[in-house]
Amino acid sequence: MGNPGQPVSMDFPLTTPRILDRARVYADVGVVCRRPDRSLVRTTYGEVVRRARALASALRNLGVRPQDRVATLCWNHREHLECYLGVPASGAVLHTLNLRLHPEELAYIVEHAQDRVLVVDDVLLPLFETFRERVRVERIFVVPTSGKPVPPGYDSYEELVGSGDPDFAPPELSETSPAMMCYTSGTTGRPKGVAYSHRALVLAALATLVADSFAISCADTVLATVPMFHVAGWVLPFSAPLAGARLVLPGPHLDPRSLAELLSAERATFSAGVPTVWLGVVQLLEREPGRWPLAPGLRVALGGSAPPEALLRAMRRLGIRPVHGWGMTEVLVGIQSHLRPWMEGWPEERQYEALTKQGTPVPLLEARVVSEVGEVAPDGRTPGELQVRGPWVAAGYHRGEAPDSWTPDGWFRTGDVAVVDPAGQIRIVDRTKDLIKSGGEWISSVDLENALMAHPKVQEAAVVAVPHPQWMERPLAVVVPRPGQTPTPEELRAFLGQRFPKWWLPDAFVFATEIPKTSTGKLAKAVLRERYRTWSWR
Ligand code: ADP
Repeated sequence: MGNPGQPVSMDFPLTTPRILDRARVYADVGVVCRRPDRSLVRTTYGEVVRRARALASALRNLGVRPQDRVATLCWNHREHLECYLGVPASGAVLHTLNLRLHPEELAYIVEHAQDRVLVVDDVLLPLFETFRERVRVERIFVVPTSGKPVPPGYDSYEELVGSGDPDFAPPELSETSPAMMCYTSGTTGRPKGVAYSHRALVLAALATLVADSFAISCADTVLATVPMFHVAGWVLPFSAPLAGARLVLPGPHLDPRSLAELLSAERATFSAGVPTVWLGVVQLLEREPGRWPLAPGLRVALGGSAPPEALLRAMRRLGIRPVHGWGMTEVLVGIQSHLRPWMEGWPEERQYEALTKQGTPVPLLEARVVSEVGEVAPDGRTPGELQVRGPWVAAGYHRGEAPDSWTPDGWFRTGDVAVVDPAGQIRIVDRTKDLIKSGGEWISSVDLENALMAHPKVQEAAVVAVPHPQWMERPLAVVVPRPGQTPTPEELRAFLGQRFPKWWLPDAFVFATEIPKTSTGKLAKAVLRERYRTWSWR
């Protein structure tokens, strides 16, 4: 077929500089970013693209070689977006550092990744200085987000960009070469490095544009609340310029009030984040009704941990459409929950049951649930390990760590326990490490805590396994009451008893003023398990 020896379709590498080229179409579309002093800076993709090209050329002039790591220690802002687009366009690898980690862990990660260059916010220099002595970064460029001069001993990011060529044409890159890397947040062990190829990022970004996933389009204003250091910011920094969506970057202001303000003032139509962040926003919007009018049809992608049904309901009451999905550092964009056409007529209860499931893989991603005896029956009951494969799923960890996270037949083992229903919808039961093993049976900590969060007196709850002399482990619930409320263990047990068998019910309820969170805002269950490890059941 075709001319002998000639490809039938063009050989067109899917590299991230294609997104730079694409953003030219939307040169006049706005990018808004909030500074530490709360002021808003307004720019356009045209300007961001010119500065990203200049950054790429300046990095090359500096002697940064292909695949060298350029790290960022930054909040979500326009300079970070320039790094997302500019660093990979130079051939180097953008490595986003999680600014909520302990300095010890940050030093380990910077050394493990062998970062050569660091771009750091001026307001984060105090954090950097806590581990500066322990890392061998060669050049450090400071982003002046607070408007103050760059302190002595550091180079200026603005001067770096100013020295580059804003019309720089990126070199031809291989689509399979690495463009970016992120580390897992270490919820289950030492952080591991995950690199993303150009092709993986382009295809994952494209997958967020499809209608049954995030459906991002040029009609959207995206408020990117997911930290850009976490899982490539859920690829939104690539999806928004690819689709031509307006982009709003909140800087360091991620508290509920600041987010509600931005959502409303910028008329955001799409946002995303972990349920704990949105619980706070929704509770505020409900407490002060009408104060922050939202754009009609606002969609909010929830993921990173299972959103409680109560949160989905509250969002819908506020006119927000929750879009529930599952993903992880190694998988970028994963499984999306959505109502299939034949579910539209279902009673509300059943619809919520479907929406709290994680759903079906986005196009081009494949998933299976496997037990010791092979793929589990799609009966909605039999648990197994969730495994995935696809064009943007990691094929290995940096430096070849933990190779047994991949099966011999090429699937990534997620470490999540899941069931599949007859319609092929996947439900995550728990993380393997969070499951409670009581007398040889499993109890899902996620199911219990999400049920507790539906109680009118409960603001937040976490359930963890505590060693037990007779049953091996038993569930203990840590509960944060809503302001002014004092729920009792008896009423919470009775409430859960309406839904779960007796042996599932937590044996103890501990009341607290807050629940510790991980660096990415999830319930820090490892911390709680440690705290209650020696709990006396008497
Ligand atoms: P870490 O593993 O270090 O916490 P990730 O952000 O990569 O960092 O976490 C991925 C994990 O988060 C998944 O393996 C899964 O356990 C959990 N997760 C993500 N999305 C969901 C979801 N929608 N429902 C339940 N669990 C989720």
